[in-house]
Amino acid sequence: MEVIKDLSRLKEIIDTAESIVFFGGAGTSTESGIADFRSPNGLYNQNRKEDPEKILSHNYFMNRPKRFFDFYKENIVNIAAKPNPGHEFLVNLEKAGKLKAVITQNIDGLHQMAGSENVLELHGSIYQNECVKCHKKYSLDYVLNNPNPVRCIDCESLVKPNVILYGESLDTDIVLQSVEEIVKADLLIVSGTSCSVFPAADLVTYANKKLLINLEKTSKDHICDYVYYGKFAETLNAIRKMND
Ligand code: NAD
Ligand code: ZN
Repeated sequence: MEVIKDLSRLKEIIDTAESIVFFGGAGTSTESGIADFRSPNGLYNQNRKEDPEKILSHNYFMNRPKRFFDFYKENIVNIAAKPNPGHEFLVNLEKAGKLKAVITQNIDGLHQMAGSENVLELHGSIYQNECVKCHKKYSLDYVLNNPNPVRCIDCESLVKPNVILYGESLDTDIVLQSVEEIVKADLLIVSGTSCSVFPAADLVTYANKKLLINLEKTSKDHICDYVYYGKFAETLNAIRKMND
C-alpha cells in the first residue's frame, strides 16, 4: 500500500488509468450537506434514544411505520442538497470516456443530479417509492406531502421507499453489474465509505488496482494499492484545478 501525500501523484494515478470505476458512500455527500452515518457528526453519533440502524430496518418499517417515516423524512431525505465538485469531477471523467460507471451506496440521487449517466445504486433511491401491496409507484413529492405513515391512494397499504433497509437483500442484477464493471476496469476509486456495510463493501475486493480517497481509515485500506487521506470534493476539485 502506498500512502499518497501529494496531489500531483494522485493526479498521475488517475490520469494514467484508462478505464476507471468509482465506488462511493455517504462521505461523498457530506460536502453537499448530507450527514453520513459513522463520522463524528454522523447520524450514529448524534445521541439518539433509538439506534438509527434499528429504525432503518425492515422490521421497524413494518411494525412502526409512523416512527420510521418521521425519522426518514427528518434525517435521511434532504431535497435541498446539491451535487458538489467531487460529483462534477466524475461527470467530466465519464464525458472524457475514462470513467465507465459510478457505483454508489447512497440513496440521495446526487450523482445523477450532477449529470453522471451510468450510475448503479446498490441501496436504491429516495426518488422511487412503491406500495408494498399493489406496487403502485409514487414520487418523492407524494411521500413528502402526505402524512406519516405514507399510504397508497388505491389500497391504503404502506408506501415503501425503494431503499434497501437493514434486513433486506440487495438487487442481484445491480450487484452483478457492479462486479462486471469493476473487474473490467483497471482502476477502482473508492471514496467516502467506511467499507463497513456488507455486502457492498466486498465489491472492493474484485478490483484490479484500488485507490482510496477517504477522510479516515477504513476496513479496506490494507488491500488498497494507493491511499490518500482527504475529502472527496476538496481533493478532486484541487486535482481539476491543476489542469487549469
Ligand atoms: P459511513 O457513514 O459508514 O462512512 C462514511 C465514510 O466517509 C467515513 O469513513 C468517513 O470518514 C468518510 N467521509 C466523510 N466525509 C467525507 C468526505 N467529505 N470525503 C471523504 N470521506 C469522507 O457511510 P457508508 O460507508 O456509505 O455506509 C453507510 C450506509 O448508509 C450506506 O449504505 C448508505 O446507503 C447509507 N447512507 C446514505 C446516505 C446518502 O445517501 N447520502 C447518507 C447516510 C447514509
Ligand atoms: Zn396499493
